[in-house]
Amino acid sequence: MQDSRVWRLVLGLDSETVIEKIVFDSDGVVVARVRPRRGAPTRCGRCGRRAPRYDRGEGRRRWRALDVGTLRACIEAESPRVNCAEHGPTVAAVRWARHGARHSRQFDQTVTWLARYCAKRTVAFLFRVAWETVGSIMTRAMADVDAVRDRWDNVRRIGIDEVSYQKGHKYLVVVVNHANGQLLWVGKGRTKKTLGEFFTALGEQRCARIALVSADGADWIADMVGLNCPNAELCLDPFHAVSWVTEALDKVRRRLVGEARRTKNEAMLDTLNHARWAVLKNPNRLTERQQRKLADIQHVNQQLYRAYLLKEQFRAIFAPGGEERILTLDEWLIWASRSRIPEFVDAARKIRPYRDDIASTLTHRLTNALVEGLNGRVRLLINIARGFRSVEALMALMQLHLGAYQPTLPGRPAHA
Ligand SMILES: [Zn+2]
Repeated sequence: MQDSRVWRLVLGLDSETVIEKIVFDSDGVVVARVRPRRGAPTRCGRCGRRAPRYDRGEGRRRWRALDVGTLRACIEAESPRVNCAEHGPTVAAVRWARHGARHSRQFDQTVTWLARYCAKRTVAFLFRVAWETVGSIMTRAMADVDAVRDRWDNVRRIGIDEVSYQKGHKYLVVVVNHANGQLLWVGKGRTKKTLGEFFTALGEQRCARIALVSADGADWIADMVGLNCPNAELCLDPFHAVSWVTEALDKVRRRLVGEARRTKNEAMLDTLNHARWAVLKNPNRLTERQQRKLADIQHVNQQLYRAYLLKEQFRAIFAPGGEERILTLDEWLIWASRSRIPEFVDAARKIRPYRDDIASTLTHRLTNALVEGLNGRVRLLINIARGFRSVEALMALMQLHLGAYQPTLPGRPAHA
C-alpha cells in the first residue's frame, strides 16, 4: 500500500483530497499538508453548492485530527473563500471538516460519542481540548444530525414541559415522546413562538396524527396545541398536578410554624421543626426518624396531618390502576374544598378547571415517572453543561443524553 493511502485512512481523508507531504513540526505534531484534487469544484462552506473562488481568505490553516498513536495530528490546507450566490463571500467547504470547525469530522464524531458516556473531565483531558470546545463540537455534530434525521414519523403521544436554567432566569421547552420516554425536541424560551417552532418542524401531517399531549396546565401550551394539533386530547401532566398539591402542603406547614412562633408554643415548634421532609416525601422513602416525626405530627397537629393525608390521597390518584381513580379524583376535590384548610381549598379551586384534563391523563394511563425522571436528568445535565457558556451546547448535550440519536464512532457500525 502506498504511504499516502495509509495516511489518508489514518486521517480520515477521502480520495478527493491529495496529501502533498507529512511533516513532524517542532511542537511534536504530525502535520498532513493537503490540497483538493486538481479540477475539483469549489463549494460554499455553508450550503455546499458550487461557487467560484473569491480570494485566499485567511491563507493556510490547520484542523485538529484524531491523534496518531500518542501524537497530536492535524490537517493543514489553504482555506480560500468562494462567492456563493446565496451567502456571498464565504470560506470554501473542505471535505474533512464541518463549516466553521477547527477539528476534523472524525474528531468531532469521536468527541460527541464519548461525551455521551464519559465525565466531562475525561473527555476534555483525553482530547486535549477545553470543555467549552466539547460544547461547540457537540452543537455542530447534533445540528448535522437534526438536518438529516427523521425522528418523528411515528409520534402519537407527546409531553410538553419547560425547564429553567441559569438560576431560573431562562427557560427551555422540552418535548418528550411518551411511547419511549425519549426527548424529541428542545427549544429556547417558553413562549408560543418557541412551541410554534416545534410544530412547524413536525409539519402539518404529523401534527394531525398527534393524539395525546400532556402538559403543565399553562394556557400558552393549551392554545398552541389547540391551534396546531386538531386531533389531540390535552392531559394535565400528573407531575405538575401533584406539585401544586405538595406546594399547598408546604404552605400549611409554614403557616403553622409562623403561628406557633407568634404564640410561643414551644411544644408545637418542636414537633414542626424538621417536619418538612417528613410530610413532603413519599411515605416509602421516609427514614425512621421521619416516620417518628410523622407519628408525632399525627398526635400534635391534626391540621397538618390532614393536609398530609390530602397530599397522599392526591398522589394515589396517579398510582397505577384503572379508571376508577377518576372517581377518587372527584372525591378528593370535594374533600379538599371542604377541608377548611385554606391552602387546600385554594388547591382544589386551582385543580377543578383541569378535572377533565386529569381524567384524560388517568384514562390514558400516563404516569408521573417519565416527566419526573426527565426533570431530574435535565437538572443534572444543566449542571454538567455549565462550562459550555452556550445554550446551544446545553441543548446538544440534552439531545445526546435523552434523545433517540446514538452517535457512532468513525469507521464502526452502529451499536446496540
Ligand atoms: Zn452558500
